[in-house]
Amino acid sequence: MTITQSPRALYIHIPFCTNKCHYCDFTSYVLKGQPVDQYLDALEQEMARTVQQWPPVEIDTVFVGGGTPTVLTPVQMERFLKSVRTYFPLAPNVEFTMEANPGTTDIDKLSAMKAGGVNRISFGVQSFDNGLLERIGRIHSVDDVYRSIENARAVGFTNLSIDLMFGLPGQTVELLADSVNRAMELGLPHYSIYSLKVEENTLFHKLYERNELPLPPEEEEFNMFILLMDMLKGSGYAHYEISNFAKPGYESRHNSTYWRNEPYYGLGAGAHGYLNRMRHVNLKGITPYIDASAQKLPRLETLEVPEDEAMEDLMMVGLRLLEGVPASRFSKQFPGHTLERKFGAVIDKLLNDGLLEAEQTVDDTIYRLTDKGVLLGNEVFGAFIGYTG
Ligand code: SF4
Repeated sequence: MTITQSPRALYIHIPFCTNKCHYCDFTSYVLKGQPVDQYLDALEQEMARTVQQWPPVEIDTVFVGGGTPTVLTPVQMERFLKSVRTYFPLAPNVEFTMEANPGTTDIDKLSAMKAGGVNRISFGVQSFDNGLLERIGRIHSVDDVYRSIENARAVGFTNLSIDLMFGLPGQTVELLADSVNRAMELGLPHYSIYSLKVEENTLFHKLYERNELPLPPEEEEFNMFILLMDMLKGSGYAHYEISNFAKPGYESRHNSTYWRNEPYYGLGAGAHGYLNRMRHVNLKGITPYIDASAQKLPRLETLEVPEDEAMEDLMMVGLRLLEGVPASRFSKQFPGHTLERKFGAVIDKLLNDGLLEAEQTVDDTIYRLTDKGVLLGNEVFGAFIGYTG
């Protein structure tokens, strides 16, 4: 099959967790009793079929997410990472990220990750308050966080990131400030901080429906966002994406692929991929995924993204990056179209409302969120949905 633009990014999903967090609606299953080795066999089969159908050039970024990839044993980890390197040619300066749960990262595991090519770890920490961690169903404690960061450094990892959450039930502005402070004391080059979304089919959704989830009031959540931005920016971290902060040079290159609406391979149960303007979702169940992978690519569905929708996507995800969307990127992805012709009226309105700003360079115009737009991001992104210029 002809491929119009070879993906340079690869996402692989490991859908197992020690247990299920109360807010989680990702494709993840409790590890106990799962056929992990057969799953890794199936992943290898999917890798082989994928590269046969969509031959890769060099891969610039790999992201192994979940689930909890670090539930693999060191032996499974070694085997899995070897298969990645066998099927996908990695660039010499590849950014190779693996998500990790602080409760599942001992020295042996981390050594297997490092030996297998991983060079960036994203730890799902969420909070530095043990009470909150328990309330949201995390398996790790604050001590585990310190131990895992120490272990990662001892093994030689320097490119480390922590995920935190705000807007959690029972969380106050003070508790969040304490977590952000303690996270920054670790001196890592990257932090991601997300607000809780109560998703359907989660324990939190059930509690919410029963009015038993004490979420902070909206105004307090807003104040949390302002506070965390001030704290991180005040400590020299660039706020480069709505939920992400980094020291110069440590921005997540892999996630920038999504934010720039560029193609990527997506493998594993429930994984999404984007190739040739076709989005696919893989089968989510472990057994259906394993069975299908023995015969063919294990797709749940593959959908062509209509051009209008791809244009909306580019704006919605692109404006999440505080660098903004250059008009030239739009014309490059959609030859024969210009950003102003397609979205002129909506952009004018957002400029007038003070939510967007436009920077004129010698040969381009860059549209980006203003400070007010960052706070009201969902309003900005929503303005592009269903807009037909
Ligand atoms: S560790 Fe992550 S993927 Fe696993 S259940 Fe918790 S939130 Fe979901």
